[in-house]
Amino acid sequence: MNKTDTPKGDSTRVVGAGRRKEWTQGIVNTPVWRASTILYDSVAELREAGGRDTHHRLFYGRKGTPTQWSLADALTELEPGAEGTFLYPSGVAAIAAALLSVLSPGDELLIPDSAYDPTRAMGMGLLKRMGVKTRFYDPMVGAGIAALITGATRAILLESPGSLTFEVQDVPAIVAVAKARGVTTLLDNTWATPLFFPAIAHGVDLTILACTKYIVGHSDVMLGSVTAAPGHFARLRDTSFQLGQIASPDDSWLASRGLRTMAIRLRQHQASALEIAHWLAAQPEVATVLHPALPSCPGHDVFRRDFIGSSGLFSFVLNGGGEAARARLIDGLDHFGIGYSWGGFESLALPVDPQRHRSVTRRNDAGLIVRLQIGLEDPADLIVDLAAGLARFAQQ
Ligand SMILES: *Cc1c(COP(=O)(O)O)cnc(C)c1O
Repeated sequence: MNKTDTPKGDSTRVVGAGRRKEWTQGIVNTPVWRASTILYDSVAELREAGGRDTHHRLFYGRKGTPTQWSLADALTELEPGAEGTFLYPSGVAAIAAALLSVLSPGDELLIPDSAYDPTRAMGMGLLKRMGVKTRFYDPMVGAGIAALITGATRAILLESPGSLTFEVQDVPAIVAVAKARGVTTLLDNTWATPLFFPAIAHGVDLTILACTKYIVGHSDVMLGSVTAAPGHFARLRDTSFQLGQIASPDDSWLASRGLRTMAIRLRQHQASALEIAHWLAAQPEVATVLHPALPSCPGHDVFRRDFIGSSGLFSFVLNGGGEAARARLIDGLDHFGIGYSWGGFESLALPVDPQRHRSVTRRNDAGLIVRLQIGLEDPADLIVDLAAGLARFAQQ
């Protein structure tokens, strides 16, 4: 859609990305193109279509239509230096395809101990069954990752910040070691999105988004993406085609719709979450706030060096108390739903117990942990709600 190459801000980029006149016919958001069969005029044309590159060329519904191509191209445009993007029916499907595009039997994979639990489960389940050995590492390892790499290490997964506990990883340090050793890096960048952490520009080979979260932004679609650096896209696409992966046109269309407002939504998530995180840090019932933009978060210095902004998800550690007190806090909240996922317009609160999902690092938290997704409500209302929650927590 952009006719010039002048520098563009985030809001301008998300509005214009992936829109092509040949796909939209002038309609603003790329419409839903649904297809299985594509009809040809002759046997010769059918044969010709089978031999050509199906990227951006209609061939068969499983290879996509302009609806998916438009969103995929938009995500590629948001990652300076990227070669291409493939879409998946969920974030977990994206993680699986990205790993399977890299790993073979006998290979080793490194996963941070702070990773999203289904990612851990993949390492210990499906990948193990396929003959891949997963080892977990301290997310704060930085350049020390070098000591963990063996001759069999093929891939390092990163997730920054970590799920539940928000450790910010030194991505450039790990990427530098990986490049020197010929190891592929994959980053789960769902929290920051390419707007707050352009992963390919930081040297990552494959960057993964649960589009379910901020791309979609409205808690009504499951979708994932993997964006590849040059040299990594062909294998990702071949693997994904062989797995039969295709994101639905309707879901891709809703995600494109969500994407147009992502920059402005993220700015509000950022501002509201920071206001609430700072407020929480001053409450006597709160021991620690685990928000990358606060000095109390492991990796805060790296966050300040590498990230452009922070989003709306963080955790806080309670001062003492037990399960029942934490449940009293969460159960009585008016504006926070209790449920999984995040990145929508509504606030959420979740009891989380990270030690259950660790194997090589130990946490010594002062109390139980609550994870908050700060939505687009007025932060003043959310603070009143949380203040009442902390009072319920403190009552004996
Ligand atoms: C939610 C999430 C995923 C998985 O995405 P789904 O679309 O729910 O499958 C992956 N990584 C992180 C960090 C997430 O929060």
